[in-house]
Amino acid sequence: MPSEAKAAENFIEKPKTLAELRAEIAAGTTKAADLAAGYYDRIAQVNPRLNVYLSLTKERALAQAERVDALAAKGDPLPALAGIPVGIKDVLVMRGAPATAGSKILEGYRPPYDATAVEKLEAAGAVLLGKLNCDEFAMGSSTENSAYGPVRNPVDTERVPGGSSGGSAAAVAANLAVATLGSDTGGSIRQPASFCGVVGVLPTYGRVSRYGLIAFASSLDRVGPFAANVRDAATLLGVIAGHDPKDATSSAAPVEDYAAESDTPVEGLRIGVPDEYFGEGLDAEVRAAIESGIAALEAAGCVVKRVSLPHTRYAVPVYYLIATAEASANLARFDGVRYGYRSPASENLSAMYRHSRDEGFGAEVKRRILLGTYALSAGYYDAYYLKAQQVRRLLAEEYLRAFADVDAIVTPTSPMPAFKLGEKTGDPLAMYLADIYTVTASLAGICGVTVPCGTTKAGLPVGMQVLAAHLNEGTAFRVARAVETAQI
Ligand code: GLN
Repeated sequence: MPSEAKAAENFIEKPKTLAELRAEIAAGTTKAADLAAGYYDRIAQVNPRLNVYLSLTKERALAQAERVDALAAKGDPLPALAGIPVGIKDVLVMRGAPATAGSKILEGYRPPYDATAVEKLEAAGAVLLGKLNCDEFAMGSSTENSAYGPVRNPVDTERVPGGSSGGSAAAVAANLAVATLGSDTGGSIRQPASFCGVVGVLPTYGRVSRYGLIAFASSLDRVGPFAANVRDAATLLGVIAGHDPKDATSSAAPVEDYAAESDTPVEGLRIGVPDEYFGEGLDAEVRAAIESGIAALEAAGCVVKRVSLPHTRYAVPVYYLIATAEASANLARFDGVRYGYRSPASENLSAMYRHSRDEGFGAEVKRRILLGTYALSAGYYDAYYLKAQQVRRLLAEEYLRAFADVDAIVTPTSPMPAFKLGEKTGDPLAMYLADIYTVTASLAGICGVTVPCGTTKAGLPVGMQVLAAHLNEGTAFRVARAVETAQI
């Protein structure tokens, strides 16, 4: 019967909060080792259907859980994430574990070191369960570009979880981890979080070290957390943020207590609503949900103002020029020699390079390398790449001007809820255009949080994007928390 089939396909389950789990672990009523084992059982049950995890790091996770249990048994103070099961997007490296970036070209590659964000999580007591599926080299908006098959949305398995961090979002939504890490270059944390009904954080560029993140577009790439609620996401950001001598672009600004900030009431905050994010192409149900969210902020004492960000209309082309240009340079290192896959059809050196790249990269990655190489080539550089950089600056300045008048800006995270698997795979341009609301903050370097803000009639989650100025994550968390509390 169809109704039974539908019920059997519901994988949504809310994890306990960090506060609940920490209290249980500290009291000894929950052992971190049992908690981890329970998560591995659920993964064994559910993962074959959702395809969220690409590999598991069981040995390391269980050793860490035992360390946490030993600390708890002694009654020692526990670090912030003691015993918390966390999943890692497979673009962040973990020592000795497969790191595929969703690509065949990295098959068999096992990096000899940990990404800084991974190291920090573990130092804070987190139990790292495994590596999460994503679009190949984080290029995509649906996780359908993974060489290891698509992730299914736990809310509706006929739909995409968003992308590129689809595995990271789906893992939290289906309680296959309490929290996860993802990466966001043009929306890859925010959009999947909104499609799966969880919280996702875009930290300010430089707030979290990129050391150990497999690069897509270095001037845009960010590492950030996913969690089931705003406070937990804020706690995770506090753990992974901070200066790292191994990443020259990481910020030396002090790390705030984001969790405490998220508890601060929003009364008196000025909230900007940009006209350009509510025009043509916005799904009517998404619009209605976001408008309810804005009304809730007003009811909580915020002052809502209209703002204008007219360069928004250039954002998608500018993003796809800059991101592909940087990707074409970053991906030059995959040559069949240094990492992963080498084509067996290698009669000489240049054929080996050619075949390895041809067989190792998927269609979307090749499309981007071609576009990026073209944009950077002599004669076109000024017309495309340079022009895109100039418009990027205008976009950033426009945001800074807006933030002189408002404390945060709220928008829909995506113009539509989760779409069907296969719906956009034949039309790369339609897929790119769906990034319209997320690429602007990426280009400007500012921060943001996406928070669940109602659902459509069919039960699909809608996400509200809360943007704030550079290093103002605390404000974004406060506003997101107010929306969460209002239960739209
Ligand atoms: N969807 C965008 C793209 O395909 C963003 C991806 C990302 O943020 N990694 O480039």
